[in-house]
Amino acid sequence: MKKVAVFPGSFDPFTIGHEGIVKRALSLFDEIIIAVGANALKKSYYSLKTRKEIIAKVFQNEPRIRVDHYEGLTVDFCRKNEARYLLRGLRTAADFEFERAIAQVNKALDTDVESVFLLTIPEHTPINSTIVRDIIRSGGDASKFVPSVIRLKDYKGEDA
Ligand code: ADP
Repeated sequence: MKKVAVFPGSFDPFTIGHEGIVKRALSLFDEIIIAVGANALKKSYYSLKTRKEIIAKVFQNEPRIRVDHYEGLTVDFCRKNEARYLLRGLRTAADFEFERAIAQVNKALDTDVESVFLLTIPEHTPINSTIVRDIIRSGGDASKFVPSVIRLKDYKGEDA
């Protein structure tokens, strides 16, 4: 049976931290679906379309990676796509506490889905989308924090 993992997140925007986790996970799974959570209540900086476009460009040459989006429960998205693994990245103890609760609740909702965590490499520990957004909003150069094929100038934020 094909091992399919879902990597869910806001990816607002997708960073080298996210990229590192996905690339390493390719040796564990046959297919990875990067699933952008479309939360109508949470305002994002980049539109859903832009966030998906950026991720698709990063993995344009990787046929085992698909980009999609979803609303509602992550485990429902997993079931619909016959994915038995939920991939998440861990940076710090704070991430662990947050992820622990989500993974345990997801397990209670669907016992067939296993959460799998990869610890980030040390250089990626301080990188998060909030900081990248703040740099962009303040007119700074955030290019070293996003995958090298992405030119942030080509993408406009919602409140830019
Ligand atoms: P969410 O809103 O679901 O937390 P994010 O886009 O912030 O979405 O993160 C998606 C996943 O990527 C989470 O598991 C998060 O811990 C992980 N992640 C974020 N930044 C990094 C990083 N620098 N290194 C490793 N994993 C990361």
